[in-house]
Amino acid sequence: MPRGDGRLSHELDPYRPGPQDACGVFGVWAPGEEVAKLTYFGLYALQHRGQEAAGIAVSDGTGVVVYKDLGLVAQVFDEPTLASLRGHLAIGHARYSTTGGSTWENAQPTIKATNLGTTLALAHNGNLVNSADLATRIRELGLDVDGSTSDTALVTTLLAATPDLSVEAAALQVLPTVKGAFSFVFMDENTLYAARDRNGVRPLVLGRLERGWVVASEAAALDIVGASVVREVEPGELIAIDENGLRSSRFANPDPKGCLFEYVYLARPDATISGRNVYAARTEIGRQLAREHPVEADLVIPSPESGTPAAIGYAEESGIPYGMGLVKNAYVGRTFIQPSQTIRQLGIRLKLNPLRDVIRGKRIVVVDDSIVRGNTQRAIVRMLREAGAIEVHVRISSPPVKWPCFYGIDFADRAELLANGLDNEGIRRAIGADSLGYVSLNGLIAATEQPANRLCRACFDGQYPIDLPAGDLIGKHVLESVGRRVDEAGQAEQRDRSGDEPALNEDPATLERAGA
Ligand code: SF4
Repeated sequence: MPRGDGRLSHELDPYRPGPQDACGVFGVWAPGEEVAKLTYFGLYALQHRGQEAAGIAVSDGTGVVVYKDLGLVAQVFDEPTLASLRGHLAIGHARYSTTGGSTWENAQPTIKATNLGTTLALAHNGNLVNSADLATRIRELGLDVDGSTSDTALVTTLLAATPDLSVEAAALQVLPTVKGAFSFVFMDENTLYAARDRNGVRPLVLGRLERGWVVASEAAALDIVGASVVREVEPGELIAIDENGLRSSRFANPDPKGCLFEYVYLARPDATISGRNVYAARTEIGRQLAREHPVEADLVIPSPESGTPAAIGYAEESGIPYGMGLVKNAYVGRTFIQPSQTIRQLGIRLKLNPLRDVIRGKRIVVVDDSIVRGNTQRAIVRMLREAGAIEVHVRISSPPVKWPCFYGIDFADRAELLANGLDNEGIRRAIGADSLGYVSLNGLIAATEQPANRLCRACFDGQYPIDLPAGDLIGKHVLESVGRRVDEAGQAEQRDRSGDEPALNEDPATLERAGA
């Protein structure tokens, strides 16, 4: 009998998820501390960056052990498991898949024996754009990625296979050949490493414990373990931490292109990126939105909870009272039980309920972070009208999302992006709002207080700062398809040799292994 999987989802509509981040990473070097537990709590604070799988690697100086599984951090680990993961350094990962499917093999940290007989474990936030090239190089070297089809396993394999080099020396050789977005934390038996791509697309922060060091995707993961923020890991920087202290080296010239969408939605509001507090940026975006798209109304409400800081800013700037109009049930999870057709059609009503007494008879401004497919906003507008709103004005704290992200965020296929086929008036009609206003790109950039040339904003303007390969050499399942091509090429070669007719190979496991 099918049963709910018990997983919670932060999505308003779990069937049509919004933008998905590509993972949270954490690393700690702290002799004398319970490093697995510190990593567990660090991952807990990063759970919003990935909910598909979680894992921790730990070393006591004699060997590296990895424990990982599909599910949320709190589902994967329990007290006995954490107690068994003993050592003085650890790394951890919370995964959302952007290259390779959501399988146990693709969960992280990835692990590999090195040529020197040590063990390497690695965790990755971001998405590579030259995975197909790396996979080809690995095949030519006769290496194996152990059934994984993630871009991360390619890097782990290359680092572990570099002959006669320490991990640190191998990293300085391999990392310049890795293209795309990456914030890596990795380790061998004695050393914790952290590296960030030369564009610094995804965040990575360095922190200090009384008796050690911490690196994490966001400062919230430092706060939760009692670490203080030292600084960000610089774009193009490799950090190594061991008993001799912290060493920093450059593997590439920095060319910062931080992700603009981190400020809008991805990072927690308590994060600080490139010196700008994310909550302050979001409230300023709301103020800018109010200046650019004013409207006469009685109440400003957020789309819970991601629209909250921008809604506060909109209310402050406009003078319209701020309030709560929608209640979110955080405990509705993903489920294997298909709701009845009636409930399925209700969509986000599984997650949201209107405060009818607050809404009835009012002109409402509802502030959300972005429109991807438009289903959520359409349902919210309808819900507010049914609850008695006399006008519904939608304000969005990002420009229209028109282009897919290849650097670690999973929006939707380009064809599914509502703003890709419609102008603003068409979108307003599609979601049924009385008015619709997006913050301008310049307004958004100004709110981040970053120079425009130090930001990636490709999902809004289509200007990709890191060159992309041809269409069939990029995407979530690129390595499965590279594997399929290799498999087909191998079959064709065999046929050429034997003169046989083609045979269909429908075993996906075989395809994945070939992809390795
Ligand atoms: S394309 Fe958009 S989501 Fe992706 S890194 Fe650039 S700004 Fe961020």
